[in-house]
Amino acid sequence: MKEYDFYIVPTPIGNLGDITNRAIDVLKMVDIIACEDMRVTQKLLNHFDIKTKCVSYHKFNEKERINLFLNFINEGKRIALVSDAGTPLICDPGAVIVQELRKHNISVTALPGANAAVTLLSQISRKDEEFVFVGFLPKTQAQIENILNNYRYSDIVFYESPNRLMKTLEIIRELRPDCKVAVGRELTKIFEEVLQGNVNDVISHFRKNVLKGEIVGFISRDENFVNVDVKEKIKILKNKNFKAKEISIILSELYNLNKNEIYKQILET
Ligand code: SAM
Repeated sequence: MKEYDFYIVPTPIGNLGDITNRAIDVLKMVDIIACEDMRVTQKLLNHFDIKTKCVSYHKFNEKERINLFLNFINEGKRIALVSDAGTPLICDPGAVIVQELRKHNISVTALPGANAAVTLLSQISRKDEEFVFVGFLPKTQAQIENILNNYRYSDIVFYESPNRLMKTLEIIRELRPDCKVAVGRELTKIFEEVLQGNVNDVISHFRKNVLKGEIVGFISRDENFVNVDVKEKIKILKNKNFKAKEISIILSELYNLNKNEIYKQILET
């Protein structure tokens, strides 16, 4: 097997069995494990009888840690980086470290493994392949609206806290009342729950049931949305001497788009 200086190693998102043999081999083989929270990682290491020394890092000291890691690597030591759960760098710290190590031509590799978004996506009904992962959803209605508008053509996957999920679903319902959503709660754990349906039904379900644990959310693409090159259509209609107001009416009627948004684009085109 090819050897690297720095390994990104995914860890389970709940069920301790969800770690690969190779991940365990790498965690045993390296000289140092860089972990977000020593206590969390130590539980995993104890479970698999891994005795490797740990060094902590987190999103506020990533820059400082780089020199330490570079020194270790110069001494011929190999390092594995893990986060508390799932795939590092995916809504988890580590990106700054990887970027800097690559600048220093350090050999970096990543192992495949557990990830909450993919675990939900790979078990629900979907019509199309395309999806957008937006990480943790922003909080305000305007910000969520922005995301729904920007990615109307695509399924959207997001992380959310259990305290905010109801509010978020209500905002989604207000913006897109017919929308289909899915929620994955406590994936891979004993109280795992996956629910998919109309946003209204999913809200009703969670009104009746206590909402605890970790959550991944999914919003189906807007089926009324026609993926069309609006700028191109604007150009064609402008060349035919249609007025801005006429163009915005025609395109909004034809493609079910927001008239004002089109108008704005006409002025920019
Ligand atoms: N790096 C992780 C990954 O690869 O999925 C994500 C880390 S992020 C800090 C933690 C968020 O991921 C949680 O707040 C939740 O939204 C989601 N998550 C993690 N584990 C989960 C699980 N077992 N079930 C549902 N969502 C989970």
